[in-house]
Amino acid sequence: MNIILLGPPGAGKGTQAKKLEEKYGLKQLSTGDMLRAEIAAGSELGLKAKSIMDGGHLISDDIIIGMIENRIEQDDCAKGVIFDGFPRTVPQAEALDKMLAAKGHSLKSVIHLVVDEEALVGRLNNRIAEMKAAGQEIRGDDNEDTLRERLKVFRDQTAPIIPYYKGKNMLAEVDGMGSIDGVEAQIDAILTA
Ligand code: AMP
Repeated sequence: MNIILLGPPGAGKGTQAKKLEEKYGLKQLSTGDMLRAEIAAGSELGLKAKSIMDGGHLISDDIIIGMIENRIEQDDCAKGVIFDGFPRTVPQAEALDKMLAAKGHSLKSVIHLVVDEEALVGRLNNRIAEMKAAGQEIRGDDNEDTLRERLKVFRDQTAPIIPYYKGKNMLAEVDGMGSIDGVEAQIDAILTA
């Protein structure tokens, strides 16, 4: 079973992906996590990616598509994947369709976590305040200006994949503003329907 969790930054995709991993034996693939691992490793890709990510912009489609293409071949993806933060553009969505078709696989559902942007900004500011109080390190792209830029990038570059998947009858919408358990229940209902 392959699923896409779609939604702007801070919508709760990662939290829900972790729950789905445990429940259904799937593998969460977060392109953001993969890029952060490249940065931590100090690789050439990581060095290039960091400033783009800190500015809230997207890494080029060919780099991202190449990363996913290699990753889904690995054994831990055999039972299926939860794509978290991918695809983020229509060309990425088209490339994913081709990759899955070549393996004889398909997507079960594209779950759109619908959220209120101003509430996300509020949540981020609360989280930063909590992390600062706890003396924790704040990510380079964790600030209000970058979040607002990332929300704009979501509207301009990622939201066009919504009609793309609607046209394929794959899109399911979930109210992402509820409690974590409430969102989880909505997703379960979609996946077991
Ligand atoms: P995330 O952790 O998914 O919010 O991703 C953090 C940052 O990594 C994004 O703001 C982008 O700069 C970059 N990134 C992650 N996934 C993608 C993707 N599918 N396409 C382009 N850039 C990405």
